[in-house]
Amino acid sequence: MKQTVAYAKELDGKDELKKFRDKFHIPLQENGEEHIYLCGNSLGLQPKTTKVYIKQELDDWAAYGVEGHLHAKNPWLPYHEYLNDTMAKVVGAKPIEVVVMNTLSVNLHLLMATFYRPTKERYKILIESDAFPSDRYAVESQLKFHGYADGLVELKPREGETLLRHDDIEAKIEAQGDEIALILIGCPNYYTGQVFNIKRIAELGHKKGCMVGIDLAHGAGNLKLELHDSEIDFAAWCTYKYLNSGPGSVGGCFIHERHAKAYDLPRFAGWWGHDKETRFGMRDDFNPIPGAEGWQLSNPPILSLAAIKASLDIFGEVGMEVLRKKSVELTGYLENLLKELLASEVEIITPKNPEERGCQLSLQLVSGYGKQVFKAITKRGVIADWREPNVIRIAPAPLYNSFEDVFKFVSILKEELQK
Ligand SMILES: *Cc1c(COP(=O)(O)O)cnc(C)c1O
Repeated sequence: MKQTVAYAKELDGKDELKKFRDKFHIPLQENGEEHIYLCGNSLGLQPKTTKVYIKQELDDWAAYGVEGHLHAKNPWLPYHEYLNDTMAKVVGAKPIEVVVMNTLSVNLHLLMATFYRPTKERYKILIESDAFPSDRYAVESQLKFHGYADGLVELKPREGETLLRHDDIEAKIEAQGDEIALILIGCPNYYTGQVFNIKRIAELGHKKGCMVGIDLAHGAGNLKLELHDSEIDFAAWCTYKYLNSGPGSVGGCFIHERHAKAYDLPRFAGWWGHDKETRFGMRDDFNPIPGAEGWQLSNPPILSLAAIKASLDIFGEVGMEVLRKKSVELTGYLENLLKELLASEVEIITPKNPEERGCQLSLQLVSGYGKQVFKAITKRGVIADWREPNVIRIAPAPLYNSFEDVFKFVSILKEELQK
């Protein structure tokens, strides 16, 4: 492979998604040049249309007040429904299986209220040992809430390894599945970027009688997911990472169709999950909407949903198939450059097999001076992400990152490592 910027530009020239970069605001450095933004796994960039979509709702609020619920250009009452079809496509689900509501950690709790039903014999929750802190806090607090503080079971990499082996996950479920009430896995893992075979985990878990939930904070808008076919019970994700919907934006949920009409499942309820025909009657017994919508509590923040709509309209135009194809190429290019130019300095802890990762590569510097180098590349315009103790996460997002971004990043990293 040619290690030149000219070659990177040649690859950009052939990129069928090239024009989509222009649809985003790329943050500028003080010198006026664009940042090399490789942090879409923390906060995705802003589509240029977001302002237009939000302004529409602000204008309609100004013009109509409360009447906007029915008379806004996009009436607010059913606004969350406008997101369902595209969101369902993004995660490989049926529209009845998804809803956009609340935020991720809140949704994990609400979904555990339904799907974590511990008994004396079966009360444990299985998570990755390096699960995202919020997920861990949520799970630990659920265990304590139900009086089973000792119920945390962790999937740990083997001594001296950083990734989980599929065989070990299977063995754990096989060995302890009878005591496990819920399996909750992040896919991909936020730290290592490792993707798990969620269909296989669901199959094994269900065979043992466990519920299976997936945190897709790093998966939604990144991987080509098939949630319906995977048979998992539920999933939750945020929309501010790869889904580019703005800081703290409202999250997404998946509840498998087989639970759509399971009205006897316990749940924490609110009026927005109640039958739409009688919602404003205000006197009826709670009568949930079939499907994921029936788990809603509050009427949602329309300004945030408008930003999500702006972004999903772009995803709808591209499609996850095409997006994922570019993503595999772009991340493969990053991997190759690192291997060719920095093999002895940089270790990639993310799996080598593209099937077992999304766009992110997690890098460890052999020298151990990770933090200093991270600061140095930041000064030079690279926006990436540092995770203690020793990982730089690099996530080229295929919607707006270019091969040139990737080349520039590796060049800057190389120069700083040589200092
Ligand atoms: C980003 C992220 C979160 C953040 O949760 P919020 O409730 O949206 O603040 C939680 N879990 C994982 C795995 C994440 O990557």
